[in-house]
Amino acid sequence: MTDVIDGDAVAAQVREDLTGAVQTLEEAGVTPRLATVLMNDKQASETYISMKQRDCEELGIAAEDVRIDPEAPADELFDTLAELNAREDVHGILVQDPTPDHVSDERVLSAVDPAKDVDGFHPENVGKLVGGNPRFKPCTPHGVQKLLAHQGVDPDGKEVVVVGRSNIVGKPLANLLVQKADGGNATVTVCHSHTDDLAAHTRRADVVVAACGVPELVDGDMLSEGTVVVDVGINRVDADTDEQSSSSSQNSSSSGDTEKGYELVGDVDYDSAKAKASAITPVPGGVGPMTRAMLLYNTLKAASEQTGVDVTLP
Ligand code: NAD
Repeated sequence: MTDVIDGDAVAAQVREDLTGAVQTLEEAGVTPRLATVLMNDKQASETYISMKQRDCEELGIAAEDVRIDPEAPADELFDTLAELNAREDVHGILVQDPTPDHVSDERVLSAVDPAKDVDGFHPENVGKLVGGNPRFKPCTPHGVQKLLAHQGVDPDGKEVVVVGRSNIVGKPLANLLVQKADGGNATVTVCHSHTDDLAAHTRRADVVVAACGVPELVDGDMLSEGTVVVDVGINRVDADTDEQSSSSSQNSSSSGDTEKGYELVGDVDYDSAKAKASAITPVPGGVGPMTRAMLLYNTLKAASEQTGVDVTLP
C-alpha cells in the first residue's frame, strides 16, 4: 500500500501553525508585509503572484503587488528594489521569475536586501545555507524537507537521490539534506542532464526527489520497491496534442485543466512509480502548496528578525 502524501493538507497545517506568529507580531504593533515584484506579462507568473497575494492576505500578512513594465529599462526594477529595501514596513521582497532578457538575473539576486530575501537566493543567503547556518531556506527545498518530516521519513543515514541541480531546487535541497542537522544527515547524490545512467542512481535510493523539468522522466522501472518519491516537477502537457513543456514557474497547486488545453504532470510517471513507492507526492497537490506555505514562513521569519519581535515558527 503506497501512501499518497497530501501536500495540501500539510501546507494547511503549516499555515495554521503560522497563525500564532502573525498574532504575536500584530500584538507588538507589527504588520508583516511581503512585496512581490512582477516584471513580465506571462499568464503563469500572473497566476503565481495572485496565489501568493491571496495566501498572504488569508494569513494576515499584508501583500503589496508591485508591477513593472517588461519593456522598462532595468534600472526601473533596481530603483524599485532599492526603495523596497529601504522601507521599514516591508519585511519580505520576492521578484517573480522570469525577468526580461535585458535584466541581469545575477544582478537581481544581489539587489534584494539579504534580510528581506524570502526566496533565499541572495549570494549571502546561499553562502549561509551552504555553510550550514541558513537564514532563509529556499521555499521549495524547505517544503520538501517538511513533507518528508511529516511523512515520518528521517533522511538521517538514508541514500537520497536528487534529480536536478538548479539553483532554486536541486542544489539548495542537496545542501539542506547533507547538513548535520535535523532533517539532514542524508547521503545525497545530485543527478543532472550529464549524469550517465540515471536509473542506476535512482534504483539504489531510499528517497528520490525529481526536480528536472522533464515530464514523467522518473518511472517505476527506475525505482526499487519501497522508495519514497517526491515529485517537484510541474509541467504543462498539452491535453490535445500531447506536446509537453516544463513550466518555469515556482509553484502551483492548481488542478490540471483540460478545458484550457493543458494538464499538469510532474517529473515522475505517477502510476508506475506509485506501484513501487512506499510513499509518493502527487502533482498537483504535493510539493506546490508546500512551496507557497514556506514563503509565508520566510516572510514571518523576516518580519521577526527585522523588528526583534520573537515568534515561534513551526
Ligand atoms: P531547471 O530547468 O532550472 O533545472 C532542471 C535540472 O534538471 C537541471 O539541473 C538539469 O541538469 C536537470 N535535468 C534536465 N534533464 C535531465 C535528465 N534527463 N536527467 C537528469 N537531470 C536532468 O528546473 P527547476 O527550476 O529546478 O525546476 C524543476 C522542475 O520543478 C520543473 O518542472 C519546475 O516547473 C518545477 N518546480 C516546481 C516547484 C514547486 O513548487 N513544486 C518549484 C520550482 C520548480
